[in-house]
Amino acid sequence: MIQTDILIIGAGPCGLFTVFEAGLLKLRCHLIDSLPQPGGQCSEIYPKKPIFDIPAYPEILAGDLTDKLMEQISPFKPGFTLGERAEFIEKDEEDQFILTTNKGTKHRAPVIAIAAGLGCFEPRKPPVENLSNYEDHGVEYIIKDPEFYRGKKVVISGGGDSALDWTVFLADGVAEEVTLVHRRSGFRGHPDSVQKVMDLAEAGKINLVVNCEVVGVDGDGKLESVRVKHKADGEKVIKADHWVPLFGLSPKLGPIADWNLNISKNSIDVDTIDYQTNVPGIYAIGDINTYPGKLKLILCGFHEATLMVQSAFKRIYPDKNLVLKYTTVNGVNGFE
Ligand SMILES: Cc1cc2nc3c(=O)[nH]c(=O)nc-3n(C[C@H](O)[C@H](O)[C@H](O)COP(=O)(O)OP(=O)(O)OC[C@H]3O[C@@H](n4cnc5c(N)ncnc54)[C@H](O)[C@@H]3O)c2cc1C
Repeated sequence: MIQTDILIIGAGPCGLFTVFEAGLLKLRCHLIDSLPQPGGQCSEIYPKKPIFDIPAYPEILAGDLTDKLMEQISPFKPGFTLGERAEFIEKDEEDQFILTTNKGTKHRAPVIAIAAGLGCFEPRKPPVENLSNYEDHGVEYIIKDPEFYRGKKVVISGGGDSALDWTVFLADGVAEEVTLVHRRSGFRGHPDSVQKVMDLAEAGKINLVVNCEVVGVDGDGKLESVRVKHKADGEKVIKADHWVPLFGLSPKLGPIADWNLNISKNSIDVDTIDYQTNVPGIYAIGDINTYPGKLKLILCGFHEATLMVQSAFKRIYPDKNLVLKYTTVNGVNGFE
């Protein structure tokens, strides 16, 4: 059981900044994210795009903003449960929330901060028969740890940056064999990555199969091969220990919708005094919340996180007095 003061669901920019503001009040945080890396939309959707409305940064790449936030919160030593979805919530007899992920990891905290953005990014799954039988038995939709594929025969599907970048990475001495399958001959990814894939194919270091789709998965209990269908040449079988369809992720509110929170149009209603939901002790900040005048901007989420932790402190320590202290006066005193 992971115990913390504020359990944050979502490691996007607003969840990350919460750790800093909570740390100033000596509150410890743990973050859960269904994605394998922190940064939310900034890392997953647009890491290389410049943002122009972060105060004091005339321009910053979304990926660099995530790195800066990670650096800023590091003195407060947050815990992370990554690659797991916050699924069930209940209360124990001491009025603490117990949150269980889809992988069964349990977390306990007196306060929950939902910073879940647009919701869980769910993988877009291809319409292949019996696919679910092979999920986690050779079929994965996200590459969490490339070492998992060491010495294996891997088939990757997709035409975007993820498919191209992982093909290049796994072909560099990690996987035994890499096949990239794409239903068109042109790719959507960065021209640099496309060139690298073409060079690897020409050098015979990967199998590049274009104008083709995976139409079947086979194996006895675990994946042994995939069937691909070429637009002109028909079907063939490719031996595979793993098939990784990388067709992008689409956000869904997911399990949070069942937590008895007041929800309007896929967003959680909050009171703007402290961004608390209708359930005492559960707050919602960033893109996931709604209130009159709400703007889905990172800057607004930072403000919400700052006010929210003040209220969380009072909830956790009702008898303690909270006095605002400037960081210029107090500095940043991290945790041992
Ligand atoms: C292309 C693009 C450009 C943008 N440009 C700007 C800009 O210039 N300026 C600006 O201010 N904003 C911009 N935005 C919006 C900005 O990215 C969002 O406002 C910001 O990311 C919201 O942060 P967040 O922390 O609330 O949520 P998110 O960044 O969405 O992060 C939420 C995280 O919660 C996780 N999560 C959700 N549900 C669960 C669950 N049940 N269990 C575990 N994890 C869960 C998700 O996986 C995700 O990582 C842009 C957005 C896009 C898509």
